[in-house]
Amino acid sequence: MRRLSNTVFALVCLTWLSACGSYYKYDSTVSGEQKSLIEKDMGRIEGTEMIAQNGDDLRTIQIADLSGPSLINWLQNRNRVVVGEDYDWLGSNFVTQQKVTSAPQLLTSAQLDFPSTVNAGGTVTVMVNLGAAIYLEGVKKNVVYTVTAADTEWRVWSPRSAGMIQVGEGLFNLMVESSPLDSWAHSVRRFSTYLHEATHTDGNGDHRAFAHASCPSTFYRTEFRDQYACEGYLNGPYSRQVVFLKYAIPQVCAEKGCSSAEQDALLKTMADYDSRKLSTAVYADPTPEGYNVGEISEFGVMPQVSEVSW
Ligand SMILES: [Zn+2]
Repeated sequence: MRRLSNTVFALVCLTWLSACGSYYKYDSTVSGEQKSLIEKDMGRIEGTEMIAQNGDDLRTIQIADLSGPSLINWLQNRNRVVVGEDYDWLGSNFVTQQKVTSAPQLLTSAQLDFPSTVNAGGTVTVMVNLGAAIYLEGVKKNVVYTVTAADTEWRVWSPRSAGMIQVGEGLFNLMVESSPLDSWAHSVRRFSTYLHEATHTDGNGDHRAFAHASCPSTFYRTEFRDQYACEGYLNGPYSRQVVFLKYAIPQVCAEKGCSSAEQDALLKTMADYDSRKLSTAVYADPTPEGYNVGEISEFGVMPQVSEVSW
């Protein structure tokens, strides 16, 4: 019987290869083109073998090594489902909210087998870790939200329990006019964003979700002054992107034939992210937190909450 089931499963997989072999689940709000680009990015980086030459860089990125499989594994432990720009968790995708009596409990990472911000470059949203944003909204109101995405119900009792990332308008912007969206340079840039978003599923207490810091009112880029576009963590989302790009530009992009214009654009992106780091940045414990799901009760109706911006 088991053999028969496996055979049937294999046949289904042959018919819908992408559904069986994809890195993430995708909601219907993600276009086919967007999905295929994200999948391509993941597949390309999985096949790379970057080598870190500096122990501090590994301490920042906090992934065992920079090999493609290690990077993919780290991402997949934090993010599982991708939703599109038009996805509305407070609209038709809202299922329920349940009251929670206890404060979020600190969980060890071993208990979390499963698992995205406003990137204010020109104040365009690149991607959002919606799972973490919904979780934080729940913490504020002492509720656990349940939403649907990709034909699955997700109870958001921790940033990772949904592991939901949302495509923003900036994710598929062209970085260099002459470079197509499916170039290696664009894959490298987008992949750095996936690492950024996944970082928002980590952290606990005051450091939950490795939230962004407010940039000083004297910040050198006036558009970011007093905006939550700065980095308060040496192992936070922008810091992690900087380390990835530092190695991926010479060891992946250049190796795969990126033009000097493409490499320059990536170097500028890296310098931008690096400049967001505050002089007061610290290392924080990445262990994630979450509610004890045993202590929730049915609560009620559609919440009236303001738009979550993350
Ligand atoms: Zn962010």
